[in-house]
Amino acid sequence: MALITKKIKGTEDVLPKQSYRWQFIENIMREEARVYGFREIRTPVFEHTELFARGVGQTTDVVQKEMYTFDTKGGESVTLRPEGTAGAARAVLEHSLENEGLPIKASYFVSCYRYEKPQAGRLREFHQFGLEEYGTASPAADAELICAAQSIIDRLGLTQVRLELNSIGCPECRAKYNQALRDYFGGYRDRLCATCLTRLEKNPMRLLDCKSPQDREIAKDAPKITDYLCAECENHFAAVRQYLDAAGIAYTVNPTIVRGLDYYTKTVFEFVTDCIGAQGTVCGGGRYDGLMEELGGKHTPSLGFAMGLERLLMVMDAQGIAIPQPAPCALYIATMGDSAKVKAFELLRGVRECGLYAETDVAGRGLRAQMKYADKIGARYSLVLGDNELAENKARVKNMESGEQTELALDETFAERFSVLHLTADTAFEM
Ligand code: ATP
Ligand code: MG
Repeated sequence: MALITKKIKGTEDVLPKQSYRWQFIENIMREEARVYGFREIRTPVFEHTELFARGVGQTTDVVQKEMYTFDTKGGESVTLRPEGTAGAARAVLEHSLENEGLPIKASYFVSCYRYEKPQAGRLREFHQFGLEEYGTASPAADAELICAAQSIIDRLGLTQVRLELNSIGCPECRAKYNQALRDYFGGYRDRLCATCLTRLEKNPMRLLDCKSPQDREIAKDAPKITDYLCAECENHFAAVRQYLDAAGIAYTVNPTIVRGLDYYTKTVFEFVTDCIGAQGTVCGGGRYDGLMEELGGKHTPSLGFAMGLERLLMVMDAQGIAIPQPAPCALYIATMGDSAKVKAFELLRGVRECGLYAETDVAGRGLRAQMKYADKIGARYSLVLGDNELAENKARVKNMESGEQTELALDETFAERFSVLHLTADTAFEM
């Protein structure tokens, strides 16, 4: 196949016949964001490379291996966003949104770019929905954010998705923990992968996030962060759990969850499923109290999560969750002759203003081909407009399933009458 008609490896097209599935989950996300008080933020697809280097973290896989970075013609280094948090945080700082009152609650849909090895559930361009909240240190915010993620997962109809929760403490407790990790992993130097050897020096907690099976095995018996939390972090974590218990949200504490990104503090969580293979994390998030300062802002305790849309769709498929199909064409007007074509335009305008999906021939086909097309798009009703109909100013609308015909005047009452007819049939169908 010619290069020009081939998509780039690790990217996917969403074709017209599939896009309703995306819209279904996006609508649920929008709706849940609204009821939890998050408003949408839209940021550019590329940013200064430095933003991600600082905001995502130098020792992460994302920054070390996965970014799409290039120099512009002006000689600037820019990067396609590998995630949504850094750009949103940058925008909050740039526009001083804290002046509008805290906390700031933002939601986003982003396409993300990571140079990873493409496989099921792992793409080079993928899509995330996320919620971000800036300017609250309260554990109630952590719990509320987790509730929002759980609400989305529930409304999508997903089952067998478990919530795994951990606290990775603050810089104080982590200093002690990092030392314990260095002591532990230091004993396995000869068996660790090359990346982990660097991590051992720079950010030992990243070792727990390594994907190599051998390193994972070693990590199993590593010291647990939960044994190193300071009193404040311990209390925060206990409070988050108390709120979740009160909200009836089930979770397990998993001390090996550290998240791939450097700016996380205290609460971290993932929603994980076993039904789509190895890439089973559909949502990841947590608190990142250090991020805003890292980006040059004031100390602003913050938190957020991101969910992968492709992975959520995979889970829905795997669990056989039916996504409602869009309504088929309500009315197809077939035409014979030029005057009929003109009349069809007049009638369709009204029908569409009633919110119904309606079509006529715009491809110059003959009557037979038009009716075939009406069948193909599953039109519920059809109407043939010819010289007779125009002369009498009325036509018979045909129910394509039952064959039943109803005569309607082709005047200003047409759209409304058709709309009622369609609605009545619609309820009849559902009953
Ligand atoms: P993983 O451990 O699977 O690599 P991650 O920790 O890198 O995930 P995050 O940066 O937290 O992922 O992104 C949040 C969510 O985005 C993930 O839980 C996942 O659902 C989705 N995601 C991440 N990377 C990819 C990818 N390459 N392709 C598809 N979805 C992805
Ligand atoms: Mg990753």
